[in-house]
Amino acid sequence: MPNSNFAYDIADLTAKDRDHMIHPWVDLGTVQSREPLIVAQGEGACIYNVQGQRMIDGIGGMWCVNIGYGREEMAQAIADQARKLCYFSPFGIIGTPPSIELAERLTRHAPGDLKHVFFTTGGSTAVDSALRFVHFYNNFKGRPNKKQIITREYAYHGSTLLSASVSGKPADRGRMDLITSFIHHLPAPNPYRRPDGMSLESYGDQVVGDLERKILELGPENVACFIAEPLLASGGVIVPPPGYQRRTWEICRKYDVLYISDEVVTGFGRLGHIFASEPVFGIQPDIITCAKGLTSGYVPLGAFLVSDRLYSELTETAGKGQSFSNGYTYSAHPVACAAALTNLDIIERDDICGHVQRVGPYFHQQLETLTDLDMVGDVRGSHFMVCIECTADKKTKAVPPAEWDVARRIFEKCMPRGLLIRPMGHLIVFSPTLVISRAQIDEAVAILRACMSEVQDDLRRDGFK
Ligand code: PMP
Repeated sequence: MPNSNFAYDIADLTAKDRDHMIHPWVDLGTVQSREPLIVAQGEGACIYNVQGQRMIDGIGGMWCVNIGYGREEMAQAIADQARKLCYFSPFGIIGTPPSIELAERLTRHAPGDLKHVFFTTGGSTAVDSALRFVHFYNNFKGRPNKKQIITREYAYHGSTLLSASVSGKPADRGRMDLITSFIHHLPAPNPYRRPDGMSLESYGDQVVGDLERKILELGPENVACFIAEPLLASGGVIVPPPGYQRRTWEICRKYDVLYISDEVVTGFGRLGHIFASEPVFGIQPDIITCAKGLTSGYVPLGAFLVSDRLYSELTETAGKGQSFSNGYTYSAHPVACAAALTNLDIIERDDICGHVQRVGPYFHQQLETLTDLDMVGDVRGSHFMVCIECTADKKTKAVPPAEWDVARRIFEKCMPRGLLIRPMGHLIVFSPTLVISRAQIDEAVAILRACMSEVQDDLRRDGFK
Protein backbone atom coordinates (compact mmCIF):
# COMPACT_ATOMS: atom_id res chain seq x y z
CA MET A 1 0.00 0.00 0.00
CA PRO A 2 1.18 3.55 -0.62
CA ASN A 3 2.76 5.24 2.35
CA SER A 4 1.65 8.84 1.94
CA ASN A 5 -1.67 10.60 2.22
CA PHE A 6 -1.42 11.98 -1.30
CA ALA A 7 -1.89 15.53 -0.08
CA TYR A 8 -0.93 17.15 -3.34
CA ASP A 9 -2.28 20.38 -4.75
CA ILE A 10 -3.04 18.84 -8.12
CA ALA A 11 -4.26 22.03 -9.80
CA ASP A 12 -1.07 23.81 -8.76
CA LEU A 13 1.18 20.96 -10.00
CA THR A 14 -0.73 20.79 -13.27
CA ALA A 15 -0.34 24.52 -13.89
CA LYS A 16 3.38 24.47 -13.03
CA ASP A 17 3.89 21.50 -15.29
CA ARG A 18 2.16 23.19 -18.21
CA ASP A 19 3.98 26.48 -17.67
CA HIS A 20 7.48 25.27 -16.87
CA MET A 21 8.25 21.65 -17.76
CA ILE A 22 9.52 20.86 -21.23
CA HIS A 23 8.50 17.25 -21.89
CA PRO A 24 10.40 15.10 -24.36
CA TRP A 25 8.71 13.06 -27.09
CA VAL A 26 5.36 14.79 -27.07
CA ASP A 27 3.73 17.35 -29.33
CA LEU A 28 4.50 20.49 -27.35
CA GLY A 29 1.15 22.04 -28.17
CA THR A 30 -0.67 19.04 -26.74
CA VAL A 31 0.93 19.56 -23.35
CA GLN A 32 -1.03 22.79 -23.07
CA SER A 33 -4.39 21.08 -23.30
CA ARG A 34 -4.01 17.59 -21.81
CA GLU A 35 -4.12 16.68 -18.15
CA PRO A 36 -0.70 15.30 -17.19
CA LEU A 37 -0.32 11.97 -15.44
CA ILE A 38 1.62 12.92 -12.31
CA VAL A 39 3.13 9.87 -10.70
CA ALA A 40 3.72 10.09 -6.96
CA GLN A 41 4.70 6.64 -5.75
CA GLY A 42 5.52 3.14 -6.78
CA GLU A 43 5.44 -0.24 -5.15
CA GLY A 44 6.33 -3.55 -6.73
CA ALA A 45 4.82 -3.65 -10.21
CA CYS A 46 2.46 -0.72 -9.61
CA ILE A 47 2.51 3.06 -9.51
CA TYR A 48 0.18 5.55 -7.86
CA ASN A 49 -0.72 8.91 -9.33
CA VAL A 50 -1.07 12.05 -7.22
CA GLN A 51 -4.76 11.29 -6.80
CA GLY A 52 -3.74 8.03 -5.07
CA GLN A 53 -5.00 5.78 -7.86
CA ARG A 54 -3.12 2.52 -8.35
CA MET A 55 -2.09 1.39 -11.83
CA ILE A 56 -0.21 -1.65 -13.02
CA ASP A 57 2.83 -0.13 -14.70
CA GLY A 58 2.98 -1.75 -18.13
CA ILE A 59 5.90 0.48 -19.08
CA GLY A 60 8.29 -0.34 -16.23
CA GLY A 61 8.98 3.39 -15.86
CA MET A 62 10.54 3.38 -19.33
CA TRP A 63 11.77 -0.22 -19.81
CA CYS A 64 13.85 0.24 -16.72
CA VAL A 65 12.37 -0.44 -13.26
CA ASN A 66 13.34 -4.10 -13.52
CA ILE A 67 13.37 -5.02 -9.82
CA GLY A 68 10.15 -3.08 -9.18
CA TYR A 69 9.39 0.03 -7.17
CA GLY A 70 9.90 0.83 -3.52
CA ARG A 71 12.84 -1.43 -2.65
CA GLU A 72 14.06 -0.37 0.78
CA GLU A 73 17.50 -1.93 0.18
CA MET A 74 18.02 0.32 -2.83
CA ALA A 75 17.10 3.43 -0.85
CA GLN A 76 19.49 2.30 1.88
CA ALA A 77 22.39 1.62 -0.53
CA ILE A 78 21.92 5.01 -2.16
CA ALA A 79 21.73 6.81 1.18
CA ASP A 80 24.74 4.94 2.60
CA GLN A 81 26.92 5.79 -0.37
CA ALA A 82 25.75 9.43 -0.45
CA ARG A 83 26.78 9.75 3.20
CA LYS A 84 30.12 8.01 2.71
CA LEU A 85 31.18 9.63 -0.53
CA CYS A 86 28.58 11.46 -2.59
CA TYR A 87 30.78 11.93 -5.62
CA PHE A 88 34.19 11.72 -7.10
CA SER A 89 35.34 11.98 -10.69
CA PRO A 90 36.80 8.93 -12.48
CA PHE A 91 39.02 11.11 -14.69
CA GLY A 92 42.67 10.20 -14.80
CA ILE A 93 43.47 7.23 -12.59
CA ILE A 94 40.92 7.86 -9.86
CA GLY A 95 38.36 5.33 -8.75
CA THR A 96 35.84 4.72 -6.01
CA PRO A 97 35.17 1.32 -4.42
CA PRO A 98 31.64 0.90 -5.86
CA SER A 99 32.66 1.81 -9.43
CA ILE A 100 35.63 -0.55 -9.38
CA GLU A 101 33.56 -3.38 -7.86
CA LEU A 102 30.78 -2.83 -10.38
CA ALA A 103 33.13 -2.87 -13.36
CA GLU A 104 34.50 -6.25 -12.31
CA ARG A 105 31.05 -7.62 -11.48
CA LEU A 106 29.58 -6.68 -14.86
CA THR A 107 32.39 -8.42 -16.70
CA ARG A 108 31.55 -11.64 -14.81
CA HIS A 109 28.13 -11.67 -16.49
CA ALA A 110 29.37 -10.58 -19.90
CA PRO A 111 29.93 -12.94 -22.83
CA GLY A 112 33.29 -13.70 -24.42
CA ASP A 113 36.16 -11.49 -23.39
CA LEU A 114 34.18 -8.34 -22.60
CA LYS A 115 36.45 -7.53 -19.70
CA HIS A 116 36.57 -3.73 -19.68
CA VAL A 117 33.87 -1.25 -18.70
CA PHE A 118 33.41 2.43 -19.46
CA PHE A 119 30.71 4.09 -17.35
CA THR A 120 28.39 6.79 -18.64
CA THR A 121 25.27 8.57 -17.45
CA GLY A 122 22.63 6.57 -19.36
CA GLY A 123 21.93 4.70 -22.57
CA SER A 124 22.43 7.54 -25.06
CA THR A 125 25.82 8.38 -23.63
CA ALA A 126 26.74 4.67 -23.54
CA VAL A 127 26.00 4.39 -27.27
CA ASP A 128 27.64 7.71 -28.06
CA SER A 129 30.76 6.73 -26.11
CA ALA A 130 30.90 3.26 -27.67
CA LEU A 131 30.75 4.68 -31.19
CA ARG A 132 33.40 7.25 -30.37
CA PHE A 133 35.51 4.47 -28.90
CA VAL A 134 35.28 2.55 -32.18
CA HIS A 135 36.45 5.60 -34.11
CA PHE A 136 39.22 6.18 -31.57
CA TYR A 137 40.30 2.55 -31.93
CA ASN A 138 40.44 2.71 -35.73
CA ASN A 139 42.41 5.94 -35.64
CA PHE A 140 44.82 4.29 -33.26
CA LYS A 141 45.12 1.29 -35.60
CA GLY A 142 46.07 3.62 -38.44
CA ARG A 143 42.80 3.03 -40.31
CA PRO A 144 41.36 6.54 -40.42
CA ASN A 145 39.00 5.60 -43.25
CA LYS A 146 37.37 2.74 -41.37
CA LYS A 147 34.63 4.95 -39.91
CA GLN A 148 31.34 4.05 -41.58
CA ILE A 149 28.62 2.88 -39.20
CA ILE A 150 25.78 0.59 -40.24
CA THR A 151 22.48 0.62 -38.37
CA ARG A 152 18.81 -0.03 -39.12
CA GLU A 153 15.58 1.80 -39.69
CA TYR A 154 13.33 1.71 -36.62
CA ALA A 155 16.34 1.35 -34.32
CA TYR A 156 16.45 3.54 -31.24
CA HIS A 157 19.85 4.20 -29.71
CA GLY A 158 19.49 7.54 -27.95
CA SER A 159 19.21 11.29 -28.01
CA THR A 160 22.70 12.70 -28.32
CA LEU A 161 23.52 13.84 -31.85
CA LEU A 162 25.49 10.68 -32.60
CA SER A 163 23.15 8.19 -30.91
CA ALA A 164 20.12 9.91 -32.51
CA SER A 165 21.84 9.73 -35.89
CA VAL A 166 22.23 5.95 -35.65
CA SER A 167 18.58 5.71 -34.60
CA GLY A 168 16.07 5.17 -37.34
CA LYS A 169 12.48 5.75 -36.33
CA PRO A 170 11.08 7.57 -39.36
CA ALA A 171 8.82 9.85 -37.32
CA ASP A 172 11.78 11.21 -35.36
CA ARG A 173 14.19 11.77 -38.22
CA GLY A 174 12.78 14.89 -39.86
CA ARG A 175 12.64 17.20 -36.88
CA MET A 176 16.30 17.91 -36.22
CA ASP A 177 19.46 17.67 -38.25
CA LEU A 178 21.37 14.43 -37.96
CA ILE A 179 24.76 13.13 -39.01
CA THR A 180 24.42 11.42 -42.38
CA SER A 181 28.00 11.45 -43.71
CA PHE A 182 29.14 8.19 -42.12
CA ILE A 183 25.92 6.50 -41.03
CA HIS A 184 23.94 4.03 -43.14
CA HIS A 185 20.51 2.57 -42.39
CA LEU A 186 19.41 -0.89 -43.46
CA PRO A 187 15.69 -1.74 -43.63
CA ALA A 188 14.27 -2.98 -40.31
CA PRO A 189 14.18 -6.79 -40.10
CA ASN A 190 10.43 -6.86 -39.40
CA PRO A 191 8.77 -10.18 -40.32
CA TYR A 192 5.26 -8.69 -40.01
CA ARG A 193 6.07 -6.26 -42.82
CA ARG A 194 7.82 -8.76 -45.11
CA PRO A 195 6.66 -8.90 -48.72
CA ASP A 196 3.41 -10.80 -49.29
CA GLY A 197 3.96 -14.49 -49.87
CA MET A 198 7.62 -14.47 -48.82
CA SER A 199 8.57 -17.21 -46.34
CA LEU A 200 10.14 -16.23 -43.04
CA GLU A 201 13.25 -18.12 -44.09
CA SER A 202 13.65 -16.22 -47.36
CA TYR A 203 12.97 -12.98 -45.55
CA GLY A 204 15.71 -13.88 -43.06
CA ASP A 205 18.10 -14.41 -45.98
CA GLN A 206 17.08 -11.06 -47.41
CA VAL A 207 17.64 -8.99 -44.28
CA VAL A 208 20.90 -10.75 -43.43
CA GLY A 209 21.97 -10.19 -47.03
CA ASP A 210 21.17 -6.47 -46.64
CA LEU A 211 24.05 -6.20 -44.18
CA GLU A 212 26.55 -8.07 -46.31
CA ARG A 213 25.61 -6.10 -49.44
CA LYS A 214 25.99 -2.82 -47.57
CA ILE A 215 29.44 -3.78 -46.21
CA LEU A 216 30.58 -4.76 -49.72
CA GLU A 217 29.09 -1.61 -51.26
CA LEU A 218 30.93 0.62 -48.78
CA GLY A 219 34.07 -1.55 -48.80
CA PRO A 220 34.88 -3.54 -45.64
CA GLU A 221 38.01 -1.42 -45.20
CA ASN A 222 35.72 1.58 -44.66
CA VAL A 223 33.16 0.00 -42.32
CA ALA A 224 33.83 0.42 -38.60
CA CYS A 225 30.85 -1.26 -37.00
CA PHE A 226 27.30 -2.52 -37.08
CA ILE A 227 25.14 -1.43 -34.14
CA ALA A 228 22.01 -3.41 -33.32
CA GLU A 229 19.53 -3.90 -30.51
CA PRO A 230 18.91 -7.67 -30.22
CA LEU A 231 15.19 -6.85 -30.50
CA LEU A 232 14.37 -3.36 -31.76
CA ALA A 233 12.64 -2.01 -28.67
CA SER A 234 11.29 1.51 -29.14
CA GLY A 235 10.82 0.90 -32.86
CA GLY A 236 7.93 -1.39 -31.90
CA VAL A 237 9.53 -4.49 -30.34
CA ILE A 238 10.58 -5.83 -33.72
CA VAL A 239 11.76 -9.43 -33.45
CA PRO A 240 14.08 -10.22 -36.36
CA PRO A 241 13.71 -13.58 -38.15
CA PRO A 242 15.28 -16.60 -36.40
CA GLY A 243 19.06 -16.69 -36.61
CA TYR A 244 19.33 -13.06 -37.74
CA GLN A 245 21.48 -11.88 -34.81
CA ARG A 246 23.92 -14.78 -35.13
CA ARG A 247 24.19 -14.54 -38.90
CA THR A 248 24.75 -10.78 -38.92
CA TRP A 249 27.39 -11.20 -36.20
CA GLU A 250 29.16 -13.82 -38.33
CA ILE A 251 29.13 -11.45 -41.31
CA CYS A 252 30.70 -8.75 -39.18
CA ARG A 253 33.48 -11.13 -38.15
CA LYS A 254 34.04 -12.18 -41.74
CA TYR A 255 34.67 -8.58 -42.81
CA ASP A 256 36.45 -7.31 -39.67
CA VAL A 257 33.52 -5.07 -38.77
CA LEU A 258 32.89 -4.57 -35.05
CA TYR A 259 29.53 -5.67 -33.67
CA ILE A 260 27.89 -3.46 -31.03
CA SER A 261 24.96 -5.07 -29.25
CA ASP A 262 22.80 -2.38 -27.69
CA GLU A 263 21.40 -4.08 -24.59
CA VAL A 264 20.08 -0.92 -22.96
CA VAL A 265 16.62 -2.51 -22.90
CA THR A 266 17.32 -6.24 -23.17
CA GLY A 267 19.91 -6.29 -20.37
CA PHE A 268 19.41 -7.06 -16.67
CA GLY A 269 16.71 -9.64 -16.94
CA ARG A 270 14.17 -8.35 -19.45
CA LEU A 271 14.75 -11.40 -21.65
CA GLY A 272 15.61 -13.68 -18.71
CA HIS A 273 19.38 -13.10 -18.57
CA ILE A 274 21.71 -10.36 -17.33
CA PHE A 275 22.90 -9.92 -20.93
CA ALA A 276 20.85 -11.58 -23.67
CA SER A 277 23.46 -11.48 -26.46
CA GLU A 278 25.06 -14.86 -25.83
CA PRO A 279 22.48 -17.02 -24.00
CA VAL A 280 19.55 -15.95 -26.18
CA PHE A 281 21.11 -15.02 -29.50
CA GLY A 282 24.40 -16.93 -29.53
CA ILE A 283 26.63 -13.93 -30.17
CA GLN A 284 29.73 -12.56 -28.51
CA PRO A 285 29.69 -8.91 -29.49
CA ASP A 286 32.82 -6.74 -29.48
CA ILE A 287 30.93 -4.15 -27.45
CA ILE A 288 27.75 -4.22 -25.35
CA THR A 289 26.01 -1.03 -24.30
CA CYS A 290 23.71 -1.03 -21.26
CA ALA A 291 21.82 1.31 -18.90
CA LYS A 292 18.20 1.28 -17.58
CA GLY A 293 17.96 -2.06 -15.72
CA LEU A 294 21.59 -1.63 -14.62
CA THR A 295 20.21 0.39 -11.68
CA SER A 296 16.55 -0.46 -12.32
CA GLY A 297 16.05 3.27 -12.83
CA TYR A 298 16.63 4.15 -9.15
CA VAL A 299 19.40 6.53 -10.28
CA PRO A 300 20.89 7.15 -13.75
CA LEU A 301 23.81 5.08 -15.00
CA GLY A 302 24.99 3.59 -18.29
CA ALA A 303 28.02 1.71 -19.50
CA PHE A 304 29.68 0.04 -22.41
CA LEU A 305 31.70 -3.13 -22.13
CA VAL A 306 34.48 -3.77 -24.61
CA SER A 307 36.44 -6.88 -25.44
CA ASP A 308 39.92 -7.56 -24.14
CA ARG A 309 40.95 -8.16 -27.76
CA LEU A 310 40.33 -4.49 -28.59
CA TYR A 311 41.28 -2.95 -25.29
CA SER A 312 44.58 -4.75 -24.89
CA GLU A 313 45.77 -3.35 -28.22
CA LEU A 314 45.26 0.16 -26.86
CA THR A 315 47.16 -0.56 -23.66
CA GLU A 316 50.29 -1.72 -25.45
CA THR A 317 51.40 1.82 -26.16
CA ALA A 318 51.80 3.51 -22.77
CA GLY A 319 52.99 7.07 -23.02
CA LYS A 320 52.08 7.58 -26.68
CA GLY A 321 49.09 9.78 -25.94
CA GLN A 322 46.40 7.17 -26.51
CA SER A 323 43.88 8.84 -24.24
CA PHE A 324 40.17 8.20 -24.87
CA SER A 325 39.11 11.83 -24.72
CA ASN A 326 35.52 11.15 -23.83
CA GLY A 327 34.02 11.16 -20.35
CA TYR A 328 31.37 12.81 -18.26
CA THR A 329 31.51 14.46 -14.87
CA TYR A 330 29.02 11.84 -13.72
CA SER A 331 30.65 8.82 -15.39
CA ALA A 332 30.99 6.04 -12.80
CA HIS A 333 29.07 8.08 -10.21
CA PRO A 334 29.68 6.25 -6.94
CA VAL A 335 26.07 6.55 -5.74
CA ALA A 336 24.82 5.11 -9.03
CA CYS A 337 27.40 2.32 -8.94
CA ALA A 338 26.43 1.45 -5.35
CA ALA A 339 22.80 1.29 -6.48
CA ALA A 340 23.77 -0.95 -9.42
CA LEU A 341 25.61 -3.36 -7.09
CA THR A 342 22.58 -3.68 -4.82
CA ASN A 343 20.34 -4.01 -7.88
CA LEU A 344 22.45 -6.95 -9.05
CA ASP A 345 22.30 -8.48 -5.55
CA ILE A 346 18.50 -8.30 -5.70
CA ILE A 347 18.29 -9.69 -9.24
CA GLU A 348 20.41 -12.66 -8.20
CA ARG A 349 18.93 -13.27 -4.72
CA ASP A 350 15.30 -13.04 -5.89
CA ASP A 351 16.02 -15.05 -9.05
CA ILE A 352 14.44 -12.35 -11.16
CA CYS A 353 15.84 -13.88 -14.36
CA GLY A 354 14.18 -17.18 -13.40
CA HIS A 355 10.86 -15.37 -12.82
CA VAL A 356 11.13 -13.77 -16.27
CA GLN A 357 11.93 -17.12 -17.86
CA ARG A 358 8.90 -18.70 -16.16
CA VAL A 359 6.35 -15.89 -16.39
CA GLY A 360 7.53 -14.09 -19.55
CA PRO A 361 6.08 -16.69 -21.94
CA TYR A 362 2.78 -16.57 -19.99
CA PHE A 363 2.66 -12.78 -20.42
CA HIS A 364 3.16 -13.17 -24.15
CA GLN A 365 0.54 -15.94 -24.43
CA GLN A 366 -2.05 -13.87 -22.57
CA LEU A 367 -1.48 -10.86 -24.83
CA GLU A 368 -1.73 -13.16 -27.84
CA THR A 369 -5.29 -14.03 -26.84
CA LEU A 370 -6.14 -10.48 -27.98
CA THR A 371 -5.51 -11.43 -31.62
CA ASP A 372 -9.21 -12.35 -31.89
CA LEU A 373 -9.94 -8.60 -31.85
CA ASP A 374 -10.29 -7.24 -35.40
CA MET A 375 -8.00 -4.30 -34.67
CA VAL A 376 -5.06 -6.45 -33.53
CA GLY A 377 -2.72 -7.08 -36.46
CA ASP A 378 0.29 -8.49 -34.65
CA VAL A 379 1.40 -9.41 -31.13
CA ARG A 380 5.15 -9.80 -31.01
CA GLY A 381 8.07 -9.73 -28.66
CA SER A 382 9.71 -11.92 -26.11
CA HIS A 383 9.35 -12.29 -22.34
CA PHE A 384 8.76 -8.84 -20.83
CA MET A 385 9.10 -6.90 -24.10
CA VAL A 386 5.91 -7.07 -26.13
CA CYS A 387 4.17 -4.91 -28.72
CA ILE A 388 0.63 -5.02 -30.04
CA GLU A 389 0.36 -3.57 -33.54
CA CYS A 390 -3.12 -2.30 -34.35
CA THR A 391 -4.34 -2.37 -37.90
CA ALA A 392 -7.18 -0.82 -39.88
CA ASP A 393 -7.51 -4.09 -41.84
CA LYS A 394 -6.24 -7.44 -40.65
CA LYS A 395 -5.89 -8.83 -44.19
CA THR A 396 -3.98 -5.97 -45.81
CA LYS A 397 -2.22 -5.02 -42.51
CA ALA A 398 -3.08 -1.38 -43.27
CA VAL A 399 -1.78 1.09 -40.71
CA PRO A 400 -4.74 2.92 -39.11
CA PRO A 401 -5.03 6.60 -40.09
CA ALA A 402 -3.02 8.81 -37.73
CA GLU A 403 -6.15 10.80 -36.84
CA TRP A 404 -7.71 7.69 -35.28
CA ASP A 405 -4.98 7.99 -32.65
CA VAL A 406 -5.68 4.37 -31.80
CA ALA A 407 -3.09 3.63 -29.15
CA ARG A 408 -3.67 6.89 -27.29
CA ARG A 409 -7.42 6.23 -27.19
CA ILE A 410 -6.73 2.84 -25.65
CA PHE A 411 -4.21 4.37 -23.24
CA GLU A 412 -6.77 6.93 -22.07
CA LYS A 413 -9.34 4.24 -21.39
CA CYS A 414 -6.87 1.96 -19.60
CA MET A 415 -5.54 4.52 -17.14
CA PRO A 416 -8.68 5.16 -15.09
CA ARG A 417 -9.19 1.38 -14.89
CA GLY A 418 -5.73 0.83 -13.44
CA LEU A 419 -3.36 0.02 -16.29
CA LEU A 420 -0.61 2.16 -17.73
CA ILE A 421 0.47 1.26 -21.27
CA ARG A 422 2.80 3.01 -23.71
CA PRO A 423 0.98 4.32 -26.78
CA MET A 424 3.10 4.87 -29.88
CA GLY A 425 0.89 5.83 -32.83
CA HIS A 426 -0.84 2.55 -33.67
CA LEU A 427 1.45 0.48 -31.43
CA ILE A 428 1.01 -0.44 -27.78
CA VAL A 429 4.25 -1.33 -26.09
CA PHE A 430 4.67 -3.31 -22.90
CA SER A 431 7.77 -3.52 -20.77
CA PRO A 432 6.51 -4.07 -17.23
CA THR A 433 8.67 -4.42 -14.17
CA LEU A 434 10.17 -7.89 -13.97
CA VAL A 435 8.35 -8.61 -10.72
CA ILE A 436 4.87 -8.54 -12.22
CA SER A 437 2.87 -11.59 -11.11
CA ARG A 438 0.58 -13.87 -13.11
CA ALA A 439 -2.42 -12.37 -11.30
CA GLN A 440 -1.33 -8.84 -12.26
CA ILE A 441 -0.82 -9.99 -15.86
CA ASP A 442 -4.37 -11.39 -15.89
CA GLU A 443 -5.68 -8.12 -14.47
CA ALA A 444 -3.76 -6.07 -17.07
CA VAL A 445 -4.92 -8.20 -20.01
CA ALA A 446 -8.56 -8.07 -18.87
CA ILE A 447 -8.42 -4.26 -18.68
CA LEU A 448 -6.73 -4.09 -22.05
CA ARG A 449 -9.28 -6.36 -23.71
CA ALA A 450 -12.19 -4.32 -22.39
CA CYS A 451 -10.61 -1.02 -23.47
CA MET A 452 -9.56 -2.26 -26.91
CA SER A 453 -13.05 -3.63 -27.55
CA GLU A 454 -14.57 -0.28 -26.66
CA VAL A 455 -12.15 1.62 -28.89
CA GLN A 456 -12.84 -0.85 -31.68
CA ASP A 457 -16.57 -0.17 -31.35
CA ASP A 458 -15.94 3.60 -31.36
CA LEU A 459 -13.78 3.28 -34.46
CA ARG A 460 -16.47 1.39 -36.36
CA ARG A 461 -18.32 4.69 -36.41
CA ASP A 462 -15.21 6.25 -38.08
CA GLY A 463 -15.07 3.62 -40.79
CA PHE A 464 -13.21 0.72 -39.17
CA LYS A 465 -14.66 -2.54 -40.51
N1 PMP B 1 19.45 2.27 -26.57
C1 PMP B 1 18.25 1.69 -26.52
C2 PMP B 1 18.08 0.34 -27.12
C3 PMP B 1 17.18 2.33 -25.90
O1 PMP B 1 15.97 1.77 -25.88
C4 PMP B 1 17.40 3.59 -25.29
C5 PMP B 1 16.30 4.32 -24.55
N2 PMP B 1 15.02 3.89 -24.68
C6 PMP B 1 18.67 4.16 -25.39
C7 PMP B 1 19.68 3.47 -26.02
C8 PMP B 1 18.95 5.50 -24.79
O2 PMP B 1 18.98 5.41 -23.41
P1 PMP B 1 18.76 6.68 -22.46
O3 PMP B 1 17.35 7.11 -22.67
O4 PMP B 1 19.06 6.14 -21.09
O5 PMP B 1 19.73 7.72 -22.86
